Amino acid sequence: MGLIITSPVRGWATTLDDVPDPVFAQRMMGDGVAIQPLGDTVVAPFDGEVVTLHDAGHAISLRSAEGAEILIHIGLDTVMLKGEGFTPLVAIGDAVSRGDPLIRFDIDLVALAATSLITPVIVTNAEAFTIGRRTTGAGVGACEALMTLVPVQADARRRRDDGTVVEQAVTLSLPHGIHARPAAQIGEAARGFEAEVHLVKGDKRGDARSTVALLALGTAFGDEIIVQARGDDAEAALAAIVALLATDMGEARPAAARPPAAASAAPLRAGQIGGVIASPGLAMGPAAWLRQADIAVAREGGGADEEKAALIAARSEVRAAIAARADAAGGGVASVMQAHLALIDDPELIAAAEKRIANGHSAGFAWRGAIHDQIDAIRATGNAHLIERINDLVDIERQMLAVLTGKPLDGANIAAGAIVVTEDLLPSQLVALAAQSPAGICLRRGGPTSHVAILCAGMGLPAIVATGDALDAVDDGAPLLLDAELGHVTLAPSAADTDAFTARLAKRDARRAAAQAVANDACRSADGTRIEIFANVGSVEEAQSASAQGAEGSGLVRSEFLFLDRETAPSEDEQHAAYQGIADALAGQPVIVRLLDIGGDKPAAYIAIDTEENPALGQRGIRVALARPELLETQLRAILRVEPAGQCKIMIPMVVSVDELRQVRALVERLRGEMGIAASVEVGVMVETPAAAMTADLLAVEADFLSIGTNDLTQYVLAMDRGNPAVAAGVDAMHPAVLRMIGETCRLAAVHGRWVGVCGGLASDPAALPILVGLGVTELSAVPGFVAEAKQIVRGLSLPETQAHAALALQCKSAAEVRALARAFEETR
Ligand code: PEP
Ligand code: MG
Repeated sequence: MGLIITSPVRGWATTLDDVPDPVFAQRMMGDGVAIQPLGDTVVAPFDGEVVTLHDAGHAISLRSAEGAEILIHIGLDTVMLKGEGFTPLVAIGDAVSRGDPLIRFDIDLVALAATSLITPVIVTNAEAFTIGRRTTGAGVGACEALMTLVPVQADARRRRDDGTVVEQAVTLSLPHGIHARPAAQIGEAARGFEAEVHLVKGDKRGDARSTVALLALGTAFGDEIIVQARGDDAEAALAAIVALLATDMGEARPAAARPPAAASAAPLRAGQIGGVIASPGLAMGPAAWLRQADIAVAREGGGADEEKAALIAARSEVRAAIAARADAAGGGVASVMQAHLALIDDPELIAAAEKRIANGHSAGFAWRGAIHDQIDAIRATGNAHLIERINDLVDIERQMLAVLTGKPLDGANIAAGAIVVTEDLLPSQLVALAAQSPAGICLRRGGPTSHVAILCAGMGLPAIVATGDALDAVDDGAPLLLDAELGHVTLAPSAADTDAFTARLAKRDARRAAAQAVANDACRSADGTRIEIFANVGSVEEAQSASAQGAEGSGLVRSEFLFLDRETAPSEDEQHAAYQGIADALAGQPVIVRLLDIGGDKPAAYIAIDTEENPALGQRGIRVALARPELLETQLRAILRVEPAGQCKIMIPMVVSVDELRQVRALVERLRGEMGIAASVEVGVMVETPAAAMTADLLAVEADFLSIGTNDLTQYVLAMDRGNPAVAAGVDAMHPAVLRMIGETCRLAAVHGRWVGVCGGLASDPAALPILVGLGVTELSAVPGFVAEAKQIVRGLSLPETQAHAALALQCKSAAEVRALARAFEETR
């Protein structure tokens, strides 16, 4: 029966890996548990004596009667507070009993001033005790069991020690000498033997089991070190440590991984065209050009009755085709289809077309005229936000004319497995194309975070955009290798290219199959850190598909898909039915509904927004919702009605200040009261602006969680419009500036113990996951099709290695360098 160490403070117990300070995370002071405190008093974890009490009052150590030594360090970097906020209640040498108060601290003051409130509880004499059981990933009360210590049987070791010392010299090949990580590895190896092992450099000698002692040797690359061992298995211990020191102990990997300054994202060879990854993946197939030609129609008709009948017949054929596509696709796609159905039956359009038919025009000519009158009227308003509506009108014109003229629509004959090559696509065109099962998409224009890109990613359709004019060199039917992992397309591939690509495809398929087989298992990193893998959804169907892929919840319900492409806002009942359906599909798991995110690149015709010179910097997200409280209240009611209460959390888009959060929170609380909802409802914020990232600590005081929208954060950090093809090549969330914002958000939110997720496109980028985890992100909300794979990637990572990798990424000078680094990281796995 070991010695029980009880928790010195009420809070959330977690592993030392979660402590954002390598001294603790890498066990340089010893092993233990960290607590995210909820209480304000540190109490004695056992009966014993106070051994040290720092002058700043932030750290205390105690020794138990059995000799166990425990250090309790309240918060990180709290020594800097010079005692402010801490009230010691004992003195060095005092005898204390379990539960006696030791230090009281001002939790708010310390939380605001410290790097983090997280409180490591460390066993500092690890050579004498090992940790048996420990509590992590759970709430603990003060005086509840935290760890069990088991004494190490030192006597047995000494008994067999005949005093002989064996030694051997080695020249250090570690590029940075023995720093924290190699020291930890040496310590771990040494602990596997009974023998005492020491490392000697000059006149300094350090116990190999003690990281601190090894660091104190102050070694550097090329130093000569003597390894000494003494004890029963001294020879074996010596051989093991010498062998370890002869390797680079994994140190060469990051050094080699460090890209040359001018490394590009994916160096292009002759015969390759570079583009921007809009939806990651690989595809191989013949090019299928989609040249979007105007459809010629005869001006004169064959008589009013005949043309009217033709118009009615064409409308019903197009209506049926759209409805079938909506049924087959579901999701955000269905809402686009709904908009098209509304246009087919639009009374104004029909009346205008019939008037032209009465004047002798053909049904096709009349329909085109009616549509163009509408487009002209919209253009005359000067409202740039209505541009999507014009696209829908053009789309419906094409579909009707194709039926009326009997000519197939561009793209109607795309063969399954082809790679569609074209100028740009409308969301609706993509949906129509998807029905023909192309293998991939390659656009001359477009943006990586446009809605077409989001739809492609949702469908698992690899896509690159913004290739520029180079795409003209592609011949119809020519074989293509579309690499939407590295961002290029290969023309006229050699047999060797094709073989290598086929092998990558096979490897990817095997990886996917393996991931799918364990899709429903909870996601933890290799060293046990819990990382939640959620999915972004826009509909009940997507939520069902996400659940089948193993999603552990939804980190982003894009509620605006309910609001776009329609004449009026959806009613409370309609919204409620959609949110309830999503919650049911994800049975009992967290569902984070983002409040209406209208404006910018997502206009809604019925929400009038004056023409703006810079829509991305104007009426967007929560600004629009707060300016229209009736819309916001209806949506909140619809969310709050979802059962079980509390399953749906609320997330606020485009936040720039705490005040916006307060306004929404106040509204939520009022409605909860009016609706008699007892369960509390979490309200979190999206971090999509530099303002939110840099004030994440202020937001974290009041927000229940933070979720980073990397699509918008990237456009605002880099000052590059996410939909502008001219700058698309630069809109990469792997830019170190964006990564630093993410890292800073995690660091600042951790001060208040809030979790940070990523729901932007970066969470669906396999290359980014190790960096995001290393930066402190604990929830990733990806496109449904990537969920199982994301889980599998995270399972292969260990937190310390991701932290080292992320630290290197932050030092890169460009997104291209970060991507090269990420590739090198992947290749070593
Ligand atoms: C984002 O900005 O990253 C995000 C998730 O929101 P959206 O792409 O819908 O603007
Ligand atoms: Mg956004």
